[in-house]
Parts: sequence; C-alpha cells; structure tokens
Amino acid sequence: MTHDTTGARRLLLVVADGVRPDVLAEEMEAGRVPTLAALRDRGSAHQITSSFPSVTGPAYVPFLMGTHPARVGMPGLRWFDRSRSLRWATGQSRSYAGIDIWHVDRDLAPEVPTLLEYARPSLAALSMIGRGATHGRIGRGIGWMFRAAPAHFRGDLLGWRRVEQHAVNVFFERFARIRPRMSVLGILSGDKFAHKFGPRSAPVRTAIADVDAAVARAQRIAARDGWGESLHIWITGDHGHDAITQHDDLHGWLEGEGLRVRAHPRLTVKNPDVVLMVGGNAMAHLYFTPSERSRRWWSNHAPAWDGLLDRLVSRPAIDLVAVNVSADVVQVRHAGRGHAEVRRAHGAGGARWSYVCTNGDPLELGGSLHHLDACTAWEVTAAGRYPDALVQLSLLGASARSGDVLVSAAEGWDLRSRFEPVPHVSTHGALLRDQMLVPLIVDTPIARTPQRTTDIVPSALDLLSITADTAFDGRSFLR
Ligand SMILES: [Zn+2]
Repeated sequence: MTHDTTGARRLLLVVADGVRPDVLAEEMEAGRVPTLAALRDRGSAHQITSSFPSVTGPAYVPFLMGTHPARVGMPGLRWFDRSRSLRWATGQSRSYAGIDIWHVDRDLAPEVPTLLEYARPSLAALSMIGRGATHGRIGRGIGWMFRAAPAHFRGDLLGWRRVEQHAVNVFFERFARIRPRMSVLGILSGDKFAHKFGPRSAPVRTAIADVDAAVARAQRIAARDGWGESLHIWITGDHGHDAITQHDDLHGWLEGEGLRVRAHPRLTVKNPDVVLMVGGNAMAHLYFTPSERSRRWWSNHAPAWDGLLDRLVSRPAIDLVAVNVSADVVQVRHAGRGHAEVRRAHGAGGARWSYVCTNGDPLELGGSLHHLDACTAWEVTAAGRYPDALVQLSLLGASARSGDVLVSAAEGWDLRSRFEPVPHVSTHGALLRDQMLVPLIVDTPIARTPQRTTDIVPSALDLLSITADTAFDGRSFLR
C-alpha cells in the first residue's frame, strides 16, 4: 500500500463526546477556544441532530457510516439478540458499556463501509467504531483497557483524562508519520465530566479546551511538515447532555409487576417474561416473549401487555413510549398528550413519513403531517421538543434487533437507579432536544444546511473526492 497521497485532501474528524452545542458556542464566544472559533470563521458552525438513542456507541455510526445505527445492527448501547445471531453474548444480550465493546466493529453490518475503509490510510483514536482503520485503533487494545478500567470504575476522572491524553499523544505521533486521508479522534472526557459535574460545568469546558488543543496540534503538525493545505478538520459530537435529579428503577418496577426480568447485570435469569435493555441511561428497549426468535409486531402482543404499557407511560420518569406496530408504523404514546402514529411509506423518490394524530399529539407537532421526505421531516421537528423524532423513531422501530416497545425518559430522569456504578447528575439517551442536539463545525463552504450526523459521511466523501454506492440516510451538505 502506498501512502503517497500528496495533494489529496485529508480529513480529521474530532468527536467532542457529550459536548452540547450551546456550551461549545459559549466557549467560542468567550474566546477560550480560539482554534475552534477560527475553524468556524473559515467555514460554519451548526446544531445538528444525533440518532436515537442518543448514546455513545450507536451514535458514532451516523458520522462514520452515514446510516442510522439500527439499520446496520446497533439499536442501542444495550440490546437483546432475539434471533440469536451473535456467537458470543451472555444472556443473548449486548452492553457496549462493558466488555462487549470488543464486539462493536463485528456487530455492525460488514457490507456497509466506514469512512476509515473508504479513505485510506486511516487512523482512529478513542473512537467507539474503528473498523477498517489501516494504522490502528488507539485506545482499544488490552493495554488501553487496563490503563482506563481502574479510573473508570473508581470514577477517577483525572485518572481518565491522563489516559486520554496519552492516547492523544500516540494518535498524533502516528498522524504525523502517516498523514492519514481519514482520521477520527474522540475526546471523551467532556462526557465523563458532564455526567459527574453537569453539562455546563467548568470541567466540561476544560474538555472543550482539550478539543481546541488537539485541533491546534493537528494544524501545527501538518503545517510543519508541508501538508497543512490539504488538511481539513471538522468537529462534531455523538449526543447532548441534560441535567437530572432523579433515577427510576425500571427493572425493579417491572419485577414489582410480577414479571421475570432479564436485564444487565442479571443476565442469567431464565425464561424471562420481558428483557429490559436500558442504554443511555435515558432510553430503554423492552422485548416481550423473548423466547421467540423472531419479533411479533404489536398487534400480536396486545392486549396481553396493554395494561402494563398504560401503567408504564403514566410513571413520572417516562416521557414517551413507542410501540412498534409493524415494520413501517410506530405508535407514540404520552400520558398527557395522547397517541399518534409515525408511518413510513416507500416510493420511487425514497421513503416518506407521516405523523397521524389518532388520539392526540404526543410529539407536539401541532397536528397530523403527511408524506414528508427525510429533509422536510427533519425541518418540521428541528425546532421542537423532539428534533428529528419521526425519522428516528421510524428507523429504530423497524430494526429486527429493537425492542417491541421503546421508552424515552422524561426531563430530569433516567431509568437505571440500580446497578449503575458511577454516580451521575446528567444523562443522555432520550429523544429530548438537549440530548439529541450535537455541534458541527466545518472548515469548508457548504451548499445546504447540515441536518443530521448521518450527513457527515456523504459530505466527507465529497470533500475527499471518493464515490460510494452506499444508501446513506444522510445527504451531503457540500452539494
Ligand atoms: Zn455518557
């Protein structure tokens, strides 16, 4: 393989994990992150939407593969393998919050390439997805695990930041040597600090300064070695963050309903009535009749579970309950605002979405909406409480790996009070605005407004002059 890509454009994508776009904007306005501000001034800055569930792991898929994560096999941070498609899965369950992080790259559909496979040589550091990186996935080996694990489980955040900075150093040594066409660097301490101290806290701002420093360092290296002109740097995030004060015990509540529940870490529960997969922790999948290898759509479950759903949706911790009625219909329920359906239709010009207010307006869209393309479906929801809800609920619900019912937590709540080792004051995972919005800074002129993190992949390929025949969920903002 030759690394002589002289003259070719290169892209470094920096992921500011868990950084809210408004906090990033404040830091730029205050003059504390001058390199990022200069990048924005050369190009533009935006608030775009992540995928639902808004959580690290799945939410890396859109900006590395250009699709909704559920479409390539990753419906959540935790999910249940109903069809027994996985060779190694305790209790047929996945949790990328733990040791299953080893399986991330293999769990994703092999036929959909990552940006690291499209553009080579490539390099990844501290990225949940590193498949195809030609020159390493820094932060993912055994050695890294041993360095990071003690800090993680003690909640020792300064210890974590030291590990991260070591990984960043290794990344830049290779970056200078390889001059990758595509590289991705995650700065994860923003998320960890936000969980512990809040999403607007001073430590989060320190992590944003770390992003600024990394960008400046990349620019210095490229300029020093004579390839500064070819280097483009874009910044994005995987999910937002929102302060919480209350933690619901969804697991205990289901047991209180008399059900046998399989959920992390109780994966050895035999013959469960329901499998609960909380991930985020403000989102959950519920799988009914889990002994069956293929999913039933909801009409074949109801009415056995409808009473349970009524009690579920009226819990203060629960905002939305989404019931997967069929491959193309999701019913959304809210305790006060009633029921509606998100319907998808397939036509020659691509998918169209409708929002049908059967008995209320749970998504607060002001009434029914019909036959919206993906772009319009984003626009009509972008300013509201649930940005991009129609497309997100629809794509997630259709996945064979998704639960029969999806739950999104109410503001101020998450859903896993038991078994959560790290105390936290802020969360993500839900369909709520503050958890779904992420920043995007691009250093190039754009042709249209970026909408979703899925737009990043087709745009990056345009930047790098690479053609692809993948059916992306996003659209290039460069043309
Ligand atoms: Zn997090």
